[in-house]
Amino acid sequence: MESSNTPAPQSTQEILQELEEYYADAHNLYFQTISSVLEAADQLDVDHRVKLILSQPKNEIMVHCPVRMDDGSWKLFKGYRVQHNNVLGPYKGGIRYHPEVKLDEVKSLALLMTMKCALARIPYGGAKGALKIDPRALSKGELERVTRRLTVALGNNIGPDYDIPAPDMGTNAQTMAWMADTYINFAESSSKVIARGVVTGKPLEFGGSAGRDKATGQGVVYVLEALLPGMQMALPELSFSLIGYGNVGSWTGRLLQQRGSSMKAVMDHTGAIANPGGIDAEKLAEYVSTTGGVKGYPDAEAIDEATFYGTEVDLFIPAALEQMVDLEHAQHIRCKVLVEAANAPTTPRAEKHLLAKGIEVLPAILCNSGGVTVSYFEWKQNRLSETWDAELVDERLRKVMNRAADRVLEMSKRLNSGMRIASYAVAIEHIAKVYGMRGVFP
Ligand code: NAD
Repeated sequence: MESSNTPAPQSTQEILQELEEYYADAHNLYFQTISSVLEAADQLDVDHRVKLILSQPKNEIMVHCPVRMDDGSWKLFKGYRVQHNNVLGPYKGGIRYHPEVKLDEVKSLALLMTMKCALARIPYGGAKGALKIDPRALSKGELERVTRRLTVALGNNIGPDYDIPAPDMGTNAQTMAWMADTYINFAESSSKVIARGVVTGKPLEFGGSAGRDKATGQGVVYVLEALLPGMQMALPELSFSLIGYGNVGSWTGRLLQQRGSSMKAVMDHTGAIANPGGIDAEKLAEYVSTTGGVKGYPDAEAIDEATFYGTEVDLFIPAALEQMVDLEHAQHIRCKVLVEAANAPTTPRAEKHLLAKGIEVLPAILCNSGGVTVSYFEWKQNRLSETWDAELVDERLRKVMNRAADRVLEMSKRLNSGMRIASYAVAIEHIAKVYGMRGVFP
């Protein structure tokens, strides 16, 4: 944990005061996220009302889901759906299952989704959902019952034209299949086909898109291919380490390996492993799919957390929880580029330290927007009753990622700023333009 507080800039403080939002704790994720977003807005000529609107989500929904467990007992699970902004289109964002999830975390992730969709120019707003639950501790039947119950509890707060969830940490294509099936059961018979589009990240056989499973990792790789040459680096033969070996981490690892890079160290919730000669990303993915974690993987040695953070690599890639790279960790990290595959993995003080050390930090709203981009492709295919092949998905994804990377680079030159501020600035400028055209009702 970091020891001292970082005061918010003057204008951020004024906005938060106007909203009567007070944060005693500078480590609060929402405070950190909105402070960065407002810092970016201050670099632009943006209306005060846009800053106010973006500083709070439109809706914060909280539900409680009673569920019968396999042993006959009952439990009550808390769920959230935060709908941050929908000026660009329907709310969009993942649903996370995690035992420690908090409302402020969901608010931050929803705000980041608004920024991410605006940066990628995807016609969606931002949202995020969560269920306070440990999915590893529940049976498949219990997970299905709680997922269906959550879907019903959210009711008309989700819908293919209104708010479209997707997988995130602790959820997957199966979770989305249960959500879609439950929602379709309540839909009018005339809209059952469109109702499938209530969620994305569905299994391929049930309205999913080719390439959705690997999309976030694929997007990370496309961003690296676009940006590394400008930093006098190129993908083949780079070394990397990963925090998290779930959907995003394992796909990023496998795709980087396919391009000739070598995975030196991995850490997940079960432990950390390293092999200076390289860890086979495919074999590790197979191992994790049977054991649930990297611990005990035979072709690498177990290392402690400090050794993991200190392992020298070209790319350090957090792909797990938020705030996993704090100032203390940043002091140990030895890499050339930190690639944010996870949402909000780097605290502001850690980022400052890394930049001062000459380490580039590529922001999450750019790096991991491949997931929501292919979600948008899935939603589009559902509406048009089309099926795109994997090549078409990849080609379109690459275009979206390249353009987003170009926008960030241009803005960073224009503002003479770091990549994070530049990425938020691209998003805010676009949103502000649309507010200017639409006005604010009434
Ligand atoms: P996942 O549930 O598939 O995997 C999460 C990984 O994090 C696992 O390997 C787990 O072991 C690891 N982890 C959890 N707690 C940890 C801890 N304390 N220390 C080390 N590792 C820990 O989740 P995911 O879908 O891969 O999501 C990872 C991140 O990427 C999240 O920040 C998520 O919001 C973001 N993201 C996901 C997608 C997507 O399409 N799935 C899209 C954009 C962003």
